[in-house]
Amino acid sequence: MKRLATALLIGAAGFWMTAHSALGSGKPIGVVTSVIPVAYVVEELGGERVEVKALVPPGASPHTFEPVPSDMRRIAGARLFFVIGGGFDAWSDKLLGAAPAGLETVHLIEARNLNPLEGEDDHHGEEHGEEKAGAKEEDHHGEKKAVAKKEEHHDEEKAAAKKEDHHGEEKVAAKEEDHHGEEKATAKKEEDHGEEGEEFNPHFWLDPIRIRDVVVPVIVEHLIEADPAGKAYYQKRREDFHRRLTALDQEIRGELDKAKSRKYIAFHAAWPYFAERYGLEKVAVVQEFGGEEPTPREVANLVRDARAAGVGAILVEPQLNPRVAQTIAAEFGAGTVVVDPVGDPGDPARSSYEKLMRFNTRAFGNALGSKRN
Ligand SMILES: [Zn+2]
Repeated sequence: MKRLATALLIGAAGFWMTAHSALGSGKPIGVVTSVIPVAYVVEELGGERVEVKALVPPGASPHTFEPVPSDMRRIAGARLFFVIGGGFDAWSDKLLGAAPAGLETVHLIEARNLNPLEGEDDHHGEEHGEEKAGAKEEDHHGEKKAVAKKEEHHDEEKAAAKKEDHHGEEKVAAKEEDHHGEEKATAKKEEDHGEEGEEFNPHFWLDPIRIRDVVVPVIVEHLIEADPAGKAYYQKRREDFHRRLTALDQEIRGELDKAKSRKYIAFHAAWPYFAERYGLEKVAVVQEFGGEEPTPREVANLVRDARAAGVGAILVEPQLNPRVAQTIAAEFGAGTVVVDPVGDPGDPARSSYEKLMRFNTRAFGNALGSKRN
């Protein structure tokens, strides 16, 4: 009896939602993301038809985030869960065991045409010119990896051909392309790869063009699937956001073109997509992996490289303790400038995707010696 009543209630609720969303006044569909910037994009596209939450809270680093049981409640009732994938937010898998049956998880890094850049676990060799383009072998914790190097900053279409490792431990990402926008990037997940050494750098959201051309279409497609009655609404918002992202890209380029230098030192390897898009050059990063302190030797190398490159500031981030960076910057008479790869809905300067990217553009401009200072 009780069970029947519940079933009827669910049936009725389902009908109610369908009926109302057809009228455009239904209960918003629940969407969860791992990181804030993706939630910003969902917000732009979903408007009032969508209620979106990011699991990693403001001020926390997604690299060191661990979900707690109460995060389960946050995905209960959600229809869509957008994660970065590729091992970056593998913690999300822990939540899925108890996720509602109707929840669809979307790994954005596997999206068609995303062309993810490789994880950066080799920056010291590269910045010291110890290797040229070509295959390179690395040994992190006994795991050998052959990594095809690619550092062509302006060659966005370049296929990153992944090489097989020699021990069969790596899953391989097969990538093809044909310069006509029909390429496929199939990024395979690597859950078992361990805590460091993500195969792909996860921070693709810091490239507005990848957001516009890859992430936006994927999100809209899933929103329409989950809420077909909102199709026209989502398409309208997509067109509008697409236009604004195009303008944003031009604005960022215009600002950074005024900078005196192209060379930056980041706190962690969050900026290769941004740097590639806008022709910036990474001299070094303080933390090779988010949350990991540099060794004294790495600090010495960094100071040497910063001096050689004439870098005036280290970019620090609100999610990570800036103390080490401040100490290092003081060693070569430089300062620190705050950039934010993640965002914070509570700070009006970083509370939307466009605001966040403008915040970062100003920060880079300052760090690179913007003439408009
Ligand atoms: Zn990061």
